[in-house]
Amino acid sequence: MVGLTGVERGDYTGGMSILLFDIDGTLIRTSGAGKSAMEAALAGVFAVTELRDEVSYSGRTDPAIGLDLLRVHGIDPTDAHNDLLHSAYLQHLPTSLERFGGTVLPGIREVMGLLHGHPDVRLGLLTGNSYHGAQAKLMHFGLWHYFRFGGFGDGRHDRDDVARDALAAAQQYLNGPVDPETVYVIGDTPLDIRCARAIGAKAVAVATGWHPRSELAEHQPDWLFDDFSQASELVALWLGVR
Ligand SMILES: [Mg+2]
Repeated sequence: MVGLTGVERGDYTGGMSILLFDIDGTLIRTSGAGKSAMEAALAGVFAVTELRDEVSYSGRTDPAIGLDLLRVHGIDPTDAHNDLLHSAYLQHLPTSLERFGGTVLPGIREVMGLLHGHPDVRLGLLTGNSYHGAQAKLMHFGLWHYFRFGGFGDGRHDRDDVARDALAAAQQYLNGPVDPETVYVIGDTPLDIRCARAIGAKAVAVATGWHPRSELAEHQPDWLFDDFSQASELVALWLGVR
């Protein structure tokens, strides 16, 4: 997906920073709304009555999570079944988001306010959520309008492929090749750090998700924060403040 709003473009310059943000655990915490919507979909479409809590959601794509959920509940893990599951999930998601509340993580609104529209910064998404799932979550929290392009989970089982999609989307948005040295992948899981490496980008890890700072540190990100309210030095770098 390129150009979420389809209006703005901007030619790439070397001094620019391209920021690719993960969603869950990085921008927001949905307090279980996503998982609940997925479980409601399993119950509604496949009449699953006993939910098994064996599938990891952390840093993974919606299709990968969906196939594992089908498998552990004894449903044939076909793409057709997975599509049915995801459609039902998207129907449940808005009410689930309303019911569970959730929160925008510390420092995010402030940082978005500083970065949005700055000439040296371009904001994109790199998420395992499908495009429509990402849109529902970020619109719920009033963050969707900050992002201009992204890589999404649709049709992807490996986050590294989503990273390659996000880089391609950035290049299309910016009308040309982008130096990976100027690309930052911001996320809360070891898989976010790994996918940053897959595209030669810098990895910014933030311990606002399920993974403690010590675990993220083992994966050697370029930057590591407890939360984004601690990231003023990096934000200043992005803004070209010396
Ligand atoms: Mg995440």
